[in-house]
Amino acid sequence: MDIPRIFNITESAHRIHNPFTTEKLAALGAALRLETGTRVLDLGSGSGEMLCTWARDYGVVGTGIDLSRLFTEQAKLRAEELGVSDQVKFIHGEAAGYVSKDKAGVAACLGATWIAGGVAGTVGLLAQSLRPGGIILIGEPYWRRLPPTEAVAKGCLAGSIADFLILPELLASFGRLGYDVVEMVLSDRDGYDRYEAAKWLTMRRWLDANPDDELANDIRARLTSEPERYATYTREYLGWGVFALMAR
Ligand code: SAH
Repeated sequence: MDIPRIFNITESAHRIHNPFTTEKLAALGAALRLETGTRVLDLGSGSGEMLCTWARDYGVVGTGIDLSRLFTEQAKLRAEELGVSDQVKFIHGEAAGYVSKDKAGVAACLGATWIAGGVAGTVGLLAQSLRPGGIILIGEPYWRRLPPTEAVAKGCLAGSIADFLILPELLASFGRLGYDVVEMVLSDRDGYDRYEAAKWLTMRRWLDANPDDELANDIRARLTSEPERYATYTREYLGWGVFALMAR
C-alpha cells in the first residue's frame, strides 16, 4: 500500500508537500490561536511538518495518517528530531473514511481533498472527527486567474477548468456547506516556487544516482519540461491556501 512511486521520488526532499512554507505554517498556527493540548487530526499528513512544528511551537497533540510509507517514516524522524514524539503519532495508511475516536479541536486535510471526493466530501469526513466548536482546515488550490481555455487548465495539470474555483467562489462554497470561514492563510508565488522548483534539484540528483531505473526516462522528460511548464501555467494561474472553517 503506497502512493505512486513518482511522488516518493520527486518530493523525497520536501518537508512540506504543498505550495506552503515554514513561515506560512507557523503563521497559520498563530492565526488559529492554538492552545496547549489541542488535539489535531491531519489526513494526508505527508512528512508531518504541520503536526511536528505545531507540537513544538504551540504544544498541540495529534495524529497524522498518510498513504506514503516514505513520507510517514520521514514524519516520525522529524518528530524525534524536534523532540515531540510523545505528542504526535503518524500512521501509515488510508485516510479515506478515517474517523478518529478522540475528537479533535482541529481536523485538517491540506492538499489531499481527493481522499473524500473533493472539498465537500472532505469537510464532511473531517466533521466526523471534530469536537463541537472545533475548526476544520482545508488546503486547496484555486484559480488566481481563470484559465481562458481548457488547454491552459491542463497546462496547470488540472483535469479541467471546473476542477477549481476562483477565490471568492471557493470561499462562498464553504458557506453553502454550512460553514463560516474564520481564517485563511494563502500561499504566494515564492511559496509556490519552493514547492515546485524544489522538485527539480531532487529530480536531477535522483537521475544522476539512478540512470538505469525504470522511471529514469519519465523523470528526465519531467526535468526537461517542468520549469517552462510551471512558469507558463501553474505559476500564472494557480493559487493555493488553507481555509479555517467552523460550522454555523
Ligand atoms: N498535508 C501534507 C501532504 C500534502 S501532499 C503537507 O502539506 O505536507 C498529499 C499527501 O496525501 C501525500 O503525502 C500523499 O502520500 C497523501 N495521500 C494521497 N492519497 C492518500 C490516501 N488515500 N490516504 C492517505 N494519504 C494519502
